[in-house]
Amino acid sequence: MVRILVNGYGTIGKRVADAVSLQKDFELIGIAKTKPDFEAKLAIEKGYSIFCSIDKNIDLFKKEGLDVGKLEEALDDVDVVIDGTPDGIGAQNKIMYQKIKKKAIFEGGEEADIGVSFVAQCNYDKAINAPYIRCVSCNTTGLCRTLGALQGFGIEKVSATLIRRSADPNDIKTGPINALVPDVEIPSHHAEDVQTVLPISNIMTIAIKAPTTLMHVHSLTVELNEKQNEDTIIDTFKNTTRIRLVNVKDGIKSTAHIMESARDMGRKRGDMYEICIWQDSIKIKGNTLYYLQAIHQESNVVPENIDAVRAMLNLDSRDESIKKTNKSLGII
Ligand code: NAD
Repeated sequence: MVRILVNGYGTIGKRVADAVSLQKDFELIGIAKTKPDFEAKLAIEKGYSIFCSIDKNIDLFKKEGLDVGKLEEALDDVDVVIDGTPDGIGAQNKIMYQKIKKKAIFEGGEEADIGVSFVAQCNYDKAINAPYIRCVSCNTTGLCRTLGALQGFGIEKVSATLIRRSADPNDIKTGPINALVPDVEIPSHHAEDVQTVLPISNIMTIAIKAPTTLMHVHSLTVELNEKQNEDTIIDTFKNTTRIRLVNVKDGIKSTAHIMESARDMGRKRGDMYEICIWQDSIKIKGNTLYYLQAIHQESNVVPENIDAVRAMLNLDSRDESIKKTNKSLGII
């Protein structure tokens, strides 16, 4: 059993902790929190052990009657730390992990040099035995999954417009906004980030924040080496793991309908791990392919965090790991 601690129990960390606890080959040693809030209390109700990541805050937990250990002591006992702390804190924590020679997985808010940038289906083998892995951001993961599926056709050029959710549903500090906010840095950082995973030399990304919390939507234009027909592209996406084709003709007209379908599927927290491509939007003109996709930012990187553990410990091949992870999360 691989012994895992999840440091940072927010949007990503809590989902990853639950996914870790579903793996037959992993054991969740516990989670690390900074404060005794409702998330800490619910984690204890679930039976998770809690470790405090800030020593001086241990008394705050005690005052609430919560029995917690110290993060640094717990780390002695783990094989891998998954760090789901906010952007930039992971890099500070890396110093601590390095000192005690612990392997660690970081999230997409960290700089690319923190570890091997990772999207399981695209570059699993590159992460085998790596001491540090960065599961790239939700947007980059979404771009890599679908562009990775098209690589066999030869990609000449990619242009992607990212309409980004402005905040997560539980974020009362960032939202609500009543505006579309263009990112005037062109290309947005996503183009370079995709290149940390896939060898696509010609890619342009432009990002705009929108007043929604549910999902991101990407509009993609991909110039291929030669003309393909739409059915071939549809079949390719259909046969690629962690991509789901959705249809306006079935009533999936918006991100709200995708989220509703995830709830109808009985997915935990209503999560949609797969990148959803509107099949009706797949169009070919000459050598150019157009499609629209939606990304559930709160959950799509969760499977990557699980596969990253198996890659860094060289436990399974890419396909074996993806199969185990998918089965545990109900990804068909
Ligand atoms: P979050 O704010 O929801 O959660 C972070 C958690 O870490 C919070 O519970 C916070 O209290 C805790 N924390 C803060 N400082 C800490 C410390 N020193 N030690 C331990 N815990 C600490 O953040 P998030 O959205 O889950 O993001 C985490 C990482 O995942 C970031 O790198 C982010 O860029 C990335 N990511 C986020 C999303 C998303 O849409 N939310 C998607 C993909 C990747």
